[in-house]
Order: sequence, then structure tokens, then C-alpha cells
Amino acid sequence: MGESSLKAINPVLDIEKIRSDFPVLNRKIHDSPLVYLDTAASAQRPLKVIETVVDFYRNYNANIHRGVHTLSQEATAAYEQSREKIARFINAPSSQEVVFTRGTTESINLVAHSFLRPKLQPGDEILISWMEHHSNIVPWQLLCEETGAVLKVIPMNQHGELEMAALEEMLTERVKLLGIVHVSNALGTINPVEDICTLAGRLGVPVLVDGAQAMPHQSVDVQTLGCDFYCFSGHKMYGPTGIGALWGRSRHLHSMKPYQGGGEMIRHVTFEKSEFNEAPAKFEAGTPNIAGAIGMGAAVDYLRDIGMENVAAYEAGLLAYGTERLAKIDGFRMVGTATKKAGVMSFVLADIHANDVGTLVDLHGVAIRTGHHCAMPVVQFYGLPATARASLGIYNTFSDIDILADALEKVTGMFA
Ligand code: PLP
Repeated sequence: MGESSLKAINPVLDIEKIRSDFPVLNRKIHDSPLVYLDTAASAQRPLKVIETVVDFYRNYNANIHRGVHTLSQEATAAYEQSREKIARFINAPSSQEVVFTRGTTESINLVAHSFLRPKLQPGDEILISWMEHHSNIVPWQLLCEETGAVLKVIPMNQHGELEMAALEEMLTERVKLLGIVHVSNALGTINPVEDICTLAGRLGVPVLVDGAQAMPHQSVDVQTLGCDFYCFSGHKMYGPTGIGALWGRSRHLHSMKPYQGGGEMIRHVTFEKSEFNEAPAKFEAGTPNIAGAIGMGAAVDYLRDIGMENVAAYEAGLLAYGTERLAKIDGFRMVGTATKKAGVMSFVLADIHANDVGTLVDLHGVAIRTGHHCAMPVVQFYGLPATARASLGIYNTFSDIDILADALEKVTGMFA
């Protein structure tokens, strides 16, 4: 398909309207308009999210769940409504299965400590994949050190796709949890989570899905996926930082011990013994990030209004165009060429260090990520010290990709 026909696949979003929702896009960086291609690290926020957070602080700021006064009741209602919005967004059977956390990292740590740790015996196995973010590696390593369990890694091929045959072989009764990233932040690979859950389900192996990069790009239905836990972060999906969620099956949440002790998570306390609340309150000790949770609900509203199918279709068009356009640059090599990919383009440019590439394109107003993307085993797999990564969001345009490509051509010119 030619470039112009790829550009024509743009029927779904009113992109100018969407761009006008993001005030930061009016910024100039080194006298050039900002081209933000680092959404995988953190998305920009639309006015709706910013104003929702400001409205909370201006008009009904109060602690939640424990006040009888009006502000506290309003704040509590907004916080709980946000939980309901998130539950509907991922098609959770109940909002009581949605636990607010600080983000994906905390969600995974919560499952590691409260769900898995009490079950582990020496020799038990935890299965993860080669393309995990550090947040879906390190908590399991720590658990293995403590308990004598063993961490096993499902290999991937050169395209950055999981070796499904190996996964099937490695999935035995010894496995006590399988942790898998839905969309790889370093490669863009979309993993076949539904199939993986079916395979694991046959042996009764619980599956935790790291959904940090899937939530902003596609619709997520935890019931269709068939997983046991789904973890995500507000800031990757156009919401505030410092807030995220864990969805877990109610039977798991019910049987799990609290993650932290403190206020809010208890029903009754004496010096002899405490009785805990039910989930999700059981896992939300202390005053939570109320503004963040309410802002995350606003981000969900924003994405729902656009429609996740539209987001996915629009970004697929951008990705196809970007893949073709960037391939024309001398010395450009895409890292991560899976058949099923979301809007992440990791690459190397000849033998120019990724940090130099990132610094030089910034001079043209282009924000990309460079380094190991908190997925060191991925760059090690390709024998690279680092990659540069352009990641897409709903506000990106074909012109953004052209500007990136022009900037990269200038960089290669400098090193020629
Ligand atoms: N998992 C993936 C795939 C990610 O991309 C990230 C962040 O980059 C995380 C987990 C960690 O998210 P957070 O830092 O919001 O906890």
C-alpha cells in the first residue's frame, strides 16, 4: 500500500477536535511545535481530566468514606463513581472487584504479596515472558528469593512474538501463577492473552495480565480475556499519575490477606485483633489518591466518548504509515515486528546511540523515549544497549510521523 493510501485510512477520529482537547500540544519546544511521541511512557492529559481534578480541589475537596458532612459525601460519591466507570470500561462483573492502587507496579506487587506469597512452596514455579516490563519481573524475583520458588521465562522469536509452543510446554502443575504483558511497551507486541488464559485455565493456573499499555490502545474486556488479575495505570490512559487499578476475580480478592494495614481497610480494631473490611476497601489502607481516582474516571469518560474501537482503528492506520515511512530512512531498523502490534515503534538508527537520536530529534520538537524502557531483557535479547522508541497516542497525526522521519533523516545526515 502506498503512503498516500495509508494516510487515507483516517476515517474514524475528529483529530483536530481531539488535539484541541490537549493544551500541552500548543507548546513549542526549541521553537518548533511539540510532536509528542512518548505516550507509552506517559500520555498527555485532556482538559476534561485536568478540569475534573481542579474541580475536586476547588469545590469538594475532603477525605472520603468517613465524613458525614456534605463535602465528604460528595468526594466519596465521585470516588466510588469512578470505580464504577472503570469497572464498566473493562467489563468487570462488579465494581467491588476494582481496587485503586498507585498504578500497574503496585497492582502487581499487591498480587505478589497478598495472593501468591502465602501459596508458594520451594520448587513451585512462576511463569513470565521475555518481554515483561521490570514491574512484572522484579516482584516475582523477590518472591522467589523469599520462598524458594523458581522464575521461568517464556521465550520469544526475533519478531518479538511469544513462542506459544514453549509456553504450552512450560505450563505444568508446578506453575502457581503466569504473569503476562498484554501489550509490550518495548516492542508493541499484542500478546494472545485470551488463548493464554484458556491454556492456563485447563491446569487451573491463575493468570495476571499487565495491561498498562493495552488500556490506552484497545478495548479491554476482562471476562472475555478470562484472566484472574488485570493491572493498569491512570497516567498511561490519559489520566493522572499516582493512580491505577487492579481488577481481580472476587473469589481471589475475598480470600486474599490485606496488602497494607491502616485506616479504612478495617471493620473493627482492638489491641488484641482487627477485623478487616471486604474488598476493595481491604486493599485501600489509608487516605487514597482521591483526586487521582476521580481524574482517572474522567479519563475513562473521555476514552469512552471517543470509543476504543475508533482509537484502535485510528492508531493502526498511523502505525502502518509510520512503519512504512520510517523504513525508508537509511540505517533505520525496527525492533519488534510482530504481526499483531499496537502503536509502539522501537528502533535503532545505524550505529548512532539511541540517546543521541533522542536528544537530536528533541531539537526539532520531537519527544521520543530512549534506553531500555524498563525492559532490559528485551534489549539484551536483541544484543542492543538501547533503542529509541516513538509511541503513539490519540492526538498523533500522519504529519507527526513525517516530522519524526525528517528529523531522523537530519540525524543520519549529521553522522554520515
Ligand atoms: N508495565 C508496562 C508494560 C509498562 O509499560 C509500564 C510503564 O511503563 C509499567 C508496567 C509500569 O507502570 P507504572 O510505572 O505506571 O506502575
